[in-house]
Amino acid sequence: MFRRMLLPLAVVTVVAGLLLTLCERLWPAIPEQPLIRRGFVTDLGYWLGMAPLSQLISAAALSGLSVAAATMLPWLPKDQPWFASTAPHIAALPAWLQILLGLILFDFATYWGHRWTHGDWLWPYHAVHHASHDLDWLSTARVHPFQMFFMKALQGSLLIACGYPASSLIFFFICGTVSSYLLHANLPWSYGPLRYVLTSPALHRWHHSPEDGMRDKNFALIFSFLDVMFGTYHMPERPAPKECGGADWMPQNLLGQIFSPMRQTWAAVADSRLGRLLAGRPKLGVTS
Ligand SMILES: [Zn+2]
Ligand SMILES: [Zn+2]
Repeated sequence: MFRRMLLPLAVVTVVAGLLLTLCERLWPAIPEQPLIRRGFVTDLGYWLGMAPLSQLISAAALSGLSVAAATMLPWLPKDQPWFASTAPHIAALPAWLQILLGLILFDFATYWGHRWTHGDWLWPYHAVHHASHDLDWLSTARVHPFQMFFMKALQGSLLIACGYPASSLIFFFICGTVSSYLLHANLPWSYGPLRYVLTSPALHRWHHSPEDGMRDKNFALIFSFLDVMFGTYHMPERPAPKECGGADWMPQNLLGQIFSPMRQTWAAVADSRLGRLLAGRPKLGVTS
């Protein structure tokens, strides 16, 4: 079933990319940023190569999740509409509200997954995304496959746990992809008073700001009210810095970005108490 999600995702990806390229030419946030900007080749590599591969990995993970859900929750009806939850309190709501609630649940999982990737152990993988100096919609593709797998598993698990059928995940993932493209686009939009409800390109640019503490703000993908609720909303009146960053130690080429986080995890594990114990090495500073 999840093979079917690849074609709609691919079509949406290409159409949204073309439309946003046009919008970026018409209403750029940074007019002097060229189309072939810094990191363009790396991001194109992700978009053409890693993103489809990551989607395949994610599809495999979701297939596993849905099989597990069907095995562990055999009482779930198999013929509910794609948008309809089987959780009693959610199933009683009108269809549009179930879809909206599904989107909020999807973004709730995204918010916390994103926030956790800013912690010590997952940061090397997420830092790949923060290594961009220039942002446009193509920057969305710069995501480590491990992070892609982690986020999809988290989003899918929450929706399935709340009674949404596995087939609904295709819709929510497509919404997430389109929103992510829009957030990274070189556009100045902030949506006025709706800025406290919906995320925007102007808001997300602050998340990529190299200024101290800024990267730990604005984690939501669709609904900025999640940032407001959890105290991470940050939208100063002044425009965000044109130069993005915050992970300057990260290699700028694709293969370097794939392997560098793994090397860091290996080094951290080897340096941990367990790693030292297994290697038979004494703790640093301890003499016998
Ligand atoms: Zn981030
Ligand atoms: Zn981003």
